[in-house]
Amino acid sequence: MMLDGPLPTIPVGSSVLVVMAHPDDAEFGCGGTIAKWAAAGKEVNYVLCTSGDKGSSDPNTNPYNLAKIRRVEQANAAHALGAREVVFLSYEDGTLTNTLELRRDIVREIRRFRPDAVICQDPTMRFGGNRYLNHPDHRAAGDACLDAVYPSARDPHVFPELLVDGFEPHKVREVFMSTMQSPDVWVDITECFERKLEGLRQHNSQVGDRFDQVVERVRERSKFVARAFNLPFELGEGYRYFKLD
Ligand SMILES: [Zn+2]
Repeated sequence: MMLDGPLPTIPVGSSVLVVMAHPDDAEFGCGGTIAKWAAAGKEVNYVLCTSGDKGSSDPNTNPYNLAKIRRVEQANAAHALGAREVVFLSYEDGTLTNTLELRRDIVREIRRFRPDAVICQDPTMRFGGNRYLNHPDHRAAGDACLDAVYPSARDPHVFPELLVDGFEPHKVREVFMSTMQSPDVWVDITECFERKLEGLRQHNSQVGDRFDQVVERVRERSKFVARAFNLPFELGEGYRYFKLD
């Protein structure tokens, strides 16, 4: 069944949980949206499945130390966008899979934060154009998050140990799935693009020595989103929207 009328570009409710595979995924994919929604008064919190401990091409980098650096960068980035809290599930970077353990951890965080809306990654996105293969961790995080939202977070008999620990069932009402393929909602980030860049800038271990190139690439991608769908603004981020009863 299709929803009637135009789809919302901001959640109806007041709180949003952003669930991502790696530090910097949120800032690249939806940093403008997070800044815009936080400025509009939404409470935004993050859950990170990994700490990005494999995010270096230097074989001498110590993954444990890199994870420590990237957790700080991610917390700073979230705060730069106006988000409140970041929880790290600390799964190993690069080999994330949609296990029941991961799903249970995300369910626990959904029940803890009790968000009205969730932003997650698109598990069906295998590639984009002919220059981008999507990271398997992104697909695994998206899959686990959608499975956590429905039905596990709302069903008391799934993961009964969470109930014992005081994590009561919770129904998420809206999902904004960050995607480059078949989005049906576009957020105008033209006004908050600089805030998005402020978030990205915090990821110094990833973008520090090539920040100008990153800015140009992100600007081009945001322009492409707006142009490809004939949107009445310059820079956008795209989502597939779900309203859950
Ligand atoms: Zn990533």
